[in-house]
Amino acid sequence: RRAAALSAAAQPARTLDGKLVHLAANIGDLDDAAIAVRHGADMAGLVRTEFLFLGRDHAPTIDEQEHTYRAIAEAFDGRRVVLRTLDVGGDKPLPYVTQPPEANPFLGVRGIRLALARPQLLRDQLTAICRVAADHPVSVMFPMITRLDELSAARRILDEVATPGATPEVGIMVEVPAAAAKTAAFAPHVDFFSIGTNDLVQYALAAERGNDAVAPLADALDPGVLHLIDMVCRNAGDARVAVCGEAAADPTAIPLLLGLGVDELSVAPPAIPLVKAAVREYDSSASACTAAQALHCASAEEVRALTQHHAAMAD
Ligand code: PEP
Ligand code: MG
Repeated sequence: RRAAALSAAAQPARTLDGKLVHLAANIGDLDDAAIAVRHGADMAGLVRTEFLFLGRDHAPTIDEQEHTYRAIAEAFDGRRVVLRTLDVGGDKPLPYVTQPPEANPFLGVRGIRLALARPQLLRDQLTAICRVAADHPVSVMFPMITRLDELSAARRILDEVATPGATPEVGIMVEVPAAAAKTAAFAPHVDFFSIGTNDLVQYALAAERGNDAVAPLADALDPGVLHLIDMVCRNAGDARVAVCGEAAADPTAIPLLLGLGVDELSVAPPAIPLVKAAVREYDSSASACTAAQALHCASAEEVRALTQHHAAMAD
């Protein structure tokens, strides 16, 4: 059974009505890359490059980064690999980047804010990524983007270090609600958006991730969150839209995300076979109808009841 499940997972996932959905993997280190490919990943949708930077007393060199990014790209053997630039900050401090203590690190200097405050770190990372982009299909993704000028500043550094003919694709994570609302402004400047529901939920619902006392509030199926995802899908223009937060692996959320127009789901490697199986059970036009109704619900509980009702009708 396991062998059959893995072989089905190796095939692309299409909905019942034939829409192709890319199933990508979230990668936390080099070992994850091999596991993801074994589980049928069509691509790496999120490489959390933090693993190279944390738990050491100096930044990795350009050569060291190139070596690791190249090894991940080689493991993916021609499939696209999305490398997210360093996403650390107050909650994940680096000993070699001193920062004043912050009362609210999640609202402080993290993600792209830290990278732009320490441009040499970003420049070195982009240099390493561009070297690999000369030989493999890799993309760069910037985390925690809030303003268009942050993207422009990061792109300027990328342009400085890119070699002609080997510029990687560029995308941004949508984790800040205001960025979701400004999708149309970002769209002409990116190849893709990747919605990070873990942070988007935290910021949209003002419920700190990892704080058990507010965990019940932090629900990706809250209609307020679904509206933000809908805004991204409707205003993305030619840019692709992915979801790379935990919600992408939630069987209840999957039909809603596809129904809203998400093109790609990026999940933890072991979840890939199950998510592909879920995609194959869904009819995208029926899901679009459920998703449109979910936007009118008053609570996550109502959204769940609605999806259960629709699933029961389909059986
Ligand atoms: C997210 O915020 O949803 C995400 C995928 O990024 P991370 O979990 O690494 O913050
Ligand atoms: Mg995040």
